Amino acid sequence: MKSEIIAVGSELLTPFRQDTNSLYLTEKLNEIGVGVAFKTIVGDRRRDLVSAVRTALGRADIVAVMGGLGPTEDDLSREAVAEALGVGIRRDGQLVVALAARFAKRRIPMTDNNLKQADIIEGATVLPNANGTAPGLWLDTSFNGHRKLVMLVPGPPKECKALFADQCIPRLREILPVRHIAKRVLKATMIPESTADALLAPIYSTYKDVDTTILAGNAEIQLQLFCAKPSLELAQHRVDELASKLEEALEEHLFSSTGETLEQIVVYYLELKQETLAVAESCTGGLLSQRITSISGSSRSFLGGAVVYSNELKADFASVPPQLIANHGAVSAEVAEAMAQGIRRRVGASMGVGITGIAGPGGGTPEKPVGLVYVAVSYANKTESLECNFSGDRDRIRLWASQQALDMIRRRLM
Ligand code: AMP
Ligand code: MG
Repeated sequence: MKSEIIAVGSELLTPFRQDTNSLYLTEKLNEIGVGVAFKTIVGDRRRDLVSAVRTALGRADIVAVMGGLGPTEDDLSREAVAEALGVGIRRDGQLVVALAARFAKRRIPMTDNNLKQADIIEGATVLPNANGTAPGLWLDTSFNGHRKLVMLVPGPPKECKALFADQCIPRLREILPVRHIAKRVLKATMIPESTADALLAPIYSTYKDVDTTILAGNAEIQLQLFCAKPSLELAQHRVDELASKLEEALEEHLFSSTGETLEQIVVYYLELKQETLAVAESCTGGLLSQRITSISGSSRSFLGGAVVYSNELKADFASVPPQLIANHGAVSAEVAEAMAQGIRRRVGASMGVGITGIAGPGGGTPEKPVGLVYVAVSYANKTESLECNFSGDRDRIRLWASQQALDMIRRRLM
């Protein structure tokens, strides 16, 4: 079963408004095993609307049209769907009465243009709108000899979501074969998306019945697995089987196979291993501490640390010998390691982290360019550092530096 969502509204074709409703509709459709094959955004022009609806009817079995059901001139979805299907429109007496009552109750005069909202497409079932005046419409119809399920839902997000979830989804469920959905989210970090895909595509492409999506962003890669089957056991079995093969291929790059964030994993391992952590941050300016402390319960393992931006504070708070900075420069492996060791000792933690680098956009030199970051972890009787060359703007470099630090902590604990 293929579905298409049509978002109607000229405002959705401007830089100022986005079609967000379709994300919700997609989620709900996926939950009942229906994939979305197309999303169309079309302005409030009747000819364009009719064309969009015809195209959708020609390539999808389920068509959800949202928006354009209001009382104003530019609300033309009913007319356009009727025209595309070649059926008429009639005014529904009961709906007129209900509309009038709604206005009377609120003591607002009802202008004539509101009557449009009582118009229904021939053969349609009215879907009451608990949150607004424009009801939705449901059509179980045919187009060029093929059965089509068409629904019209209002545009305002609250009305759209409630009406779709409460009235369209149950109707679809009744008609469509029973499907159960299994999902998994695997997360990996410090591996380029193209490397990950080259590694994983040969595996997931053999599972034709599992939809696999790779999303890259925020310094990590997410693999979303999705499978619809007549029984949950069947769907879960396929997803889990694929997940374990992908996990194996990702090796230590994988940090979560049930959706947790990297900071959650780090806090989890710190607590599991009964370790305590202290950090000395330069170019990340506290971002690492912020990410760790965003996890409730982190206080049991995270003791704290210092933002040591100046050379003086690197010496004062993280016990970095000034001579080391003079010899190697503040951005160096030696200083990162000294920061990790120093803060660990100062605070009395079992693990210390040091981060120093050049976040840019200024401050780079040919020997030490923008994006050069050293991250060090001091744990047990070993202090290790990593030289990183991150690209992008200041925010991105700082994010990646904090990500690298979290990942190093995780790897050391595992
Ligand atoms: P309409 O039903 O076309 O009168 O839409 C009413 C309002 O709902 C619009 O002004 C938008 O603010 C909002 N809206 C319509 N369609 C969408 C959509 N696809 N996503 C998010 N908001 C929408
Ligand atoms: Mg509109």
